[in-house]
Amino acid sequence: MEVRVRLAPSPTGTPHIGTAWQALFDFVFAKKMNGKFILRLEDTDRERYVPDSVTQIYEMLNWLGFDWDEGPDIGGPFEPYVQSKRLDIYKKYATELLDKEIAYKEEGAIKFKTTKDGETKWHDLVGDKDISFPNNTQEDFVLIKSDGYPTYNFANVIDDHLMQISHVLRGNEFISSTPKHLMVYQAFGWQPPKFAHFPVLVGSDRAKLSKRHGAKGAWEFRDEGFLKEAVVNFLALLGWSHPEGKEIFSVSEMINLFEFKDINASSAYFDIQKLEWLNGEYIRKMSDEDLAERLKEFLVDHPAKNKLEMAVPLIKDRIKKLSDFVPLTDFLWEKVEYEKEVFDKLNIKNEKQVLNSILDELKNLERPWKSEVFEQTFRDLAQDLKLSATQMFQLIRVAISGQLVTPSLFESIKILGEEETLNRIKAAISLLE
Ligand code: GLU
Repeated sequence: MEVRVRLAPSPTGTPHIGTAWQALFDFVFAKKMNGKFILRLEDTDRERYVPDSVTQIYEMLNWLGFDWDEGPDIGGPFEPYVQSKRLDIYKKYATELLDKEIAYKEEGAIKFKTTKDGETKWHDLVGDKDISFPNNTQEDFVLIKSDGYPTYNFANVIDDHLMQISHVLRGNEFISSTPKHLMVYQAFGWQPPKFAHFPVLVGSDRAKLSKRHGAKGAWEFRDEGFLKEAVVNFLALLGWSHPEGKEIFSVSEMINLFEFKDINASSAYFDIQKLEWLNGEYIRKMSDEDLAERLKEFLVDHPAKNKLEMAVPLIKDRIKKLSDFVPLTDFLWEKVEYEKEVFDKLNIKNEKQVLNSILDELKNLERPWKSEVFEQTFRDLAQDLKLSATQMFQLIRVAISGQLVTPSLFESIKILGEEETLNRIKAAISLLE
């Protein structure tokens, strides 16, 4: 039997990180089993429908690399995988249930008559356990609403059957719907798929994941400068553990190793700091060229796009997100706004005189300036002027950047170049006039 899994998001807003998470497991399991990953849009709740979110779902899956084998696509066939285009199909099946008297009409809607005796049970792949519900807990439920649209409970089953879905992977919050689904499968005499209900994503306080925990639309992670590899790795670690306990691994490694038994059935704990840490690790693993490329893609309107490469070695060890690059390196490309108070923090009485001495030394320094010579020159100068080396180098730092903290001083100076460095020191001197 071919493995066919589906992601069935409802396009009701910016795709949630939980949708990306589910997509990863669908994708990984399909690949592992040489099966198919199918995308289906469950857009039958017309009141909550947000057209833009369809494109956002596509973009999110594209970004993360979860290419679907079947589904709606921009430019491709759309209708077969979009529920609002399949109303006739649901009507036909609802009529069948009416004819069998398993369904009935009420207030313009069609409702399913649930069995009240016995229990409904299935074996869940997550936690490798049986789950059962007494049937008398299952109220009759709506199949087709009075607006002619099917409910989730109905359309989901019809489509999973018609699309020959073999495994349904979804969040725990759907567990209570599964007995209803199983009753519908039974009413048609269809073989149900296997079910895997994933734990709920929770934040640090164990409450259901929300914005408060640093959860954003899947989207915003990209826009904040997270790398897709790090996001995917992070999603993998939510509720799944690598059998060797590894924290950093690729999606292809996960495809090789994935088994439902390694999913923690009780919780998936979303820790934004872990994502930041992972992202930093991925940044450091990357070659300087690759990182420069990523930065160029990320910083679309950067004023010094062709100089980004030079700055990469300066910041590679210091950034966690691509966006961190900007505040750390701004001073390299932008005119410095000096503030007297920043100089005052250095506690040097005669800053202006010291800066003039610095300027003289730099003018006499053989070009191109060399790191060791630079360092020795200003250590000596500090001693002559009865300053600590720290004060000396901090003064130069503030003079070239306006900031107390920058990446490596000499590396920054190399990017600025000798002339620009001299100009900045002159500008600092005139501020102190
Ligand atoms: N449309 C449902 C959702 O938004 C699908 C749930 C399922 O996978 O059955 O998550």
